[in-house]
Amino acid sequence: MTIDDQNNLPDDINPAENLAAITEDISAALREAGKEQNHVTIVAVSKQHEAARILPVLETGHRVFGENRVQEAQAKWSALIEKYPDTELRLIGPLQTNKVKEAVALFDVIESVDRIKLAKALAKEFEKQDKRLKLFVQVNTGEEEQKSGIAPNDVVTFVDECRDQLGLTIEGLMCIPPAADDPAPHFALLAKLAKDCGVSALSMGMSGDYSIAAQLGATHVRVGSAIFGLRPAK
Ligand SMILES: *Cc1c(COP(=O)(O)O)cnc(C)c1O
Repeated sequence: MTIDDQNNLPDDINPAENLAAITEDISAALREAGKEQNHVTIVAVSKQHEAARILPVLETGHRVFGENRVQEAQAKWSALIEKYPDTELRLIGPLQTNKVKEAVALFDVIESVDRIKLAKALAKEFEKQDKRLKLFVQVNTGEEEQKSGIAPNDVVTFVDECRDQLGLTIEGLMCIPPAADDPAPHFALLAKLAKDCGVSALSMGMSGDYSIAAQLGATHVRVGSAIFGLRPAK
């Protein structure tokens, strides 16, 4: 299949229209909260969707995308990036240290820095490739056992360590609240932690709660299914 073959897109999914509607929703939410001056970047989460479904979104001029697996992103995005070289690709899933080399080569931003071993491997690889990616620290705001991320109490120390010992620039914090919780307190906690460690960007909010996240100060919302439709079952 070529990336121009859109024949197997179901008729009822229009990613470009969905993206426009979400942009409107966010503007309305910011207006409602009296925060019209805030800018929220929509990270279009294209994981598990094929290039044919991503292409119409690129054609609207949108350039910021999120993927959660290095190998899948490599396979899908090499041709797309050739066509749209100003694409910003963001890794939003866990990164194993043995994939750091490929990740640094492909991505522009890593949102899932969640342990010192990974931070060290990234610092080393940035030197090697003479390429410095923007980094976000993932925070486990719900302190869930099975979820990766730095515990809220350890975030300030971790960010300091990344800066002072490894010379990394941490641009922001990212969180994925527990699915069963009201997300608002988690977003508020992330915003507070960002202030505490002096970082300005906040990646929070997904398809179900991007408006609330925008009202609580998100600079980036990561929206998948509301743009691209449900992901194919694995
Ligand atoms: C898949 C994913 C998203 C997008 O989720 P939707 O509910 O489809 O919008 C956002 N963030 C992360 C980290 C993800 O893995």
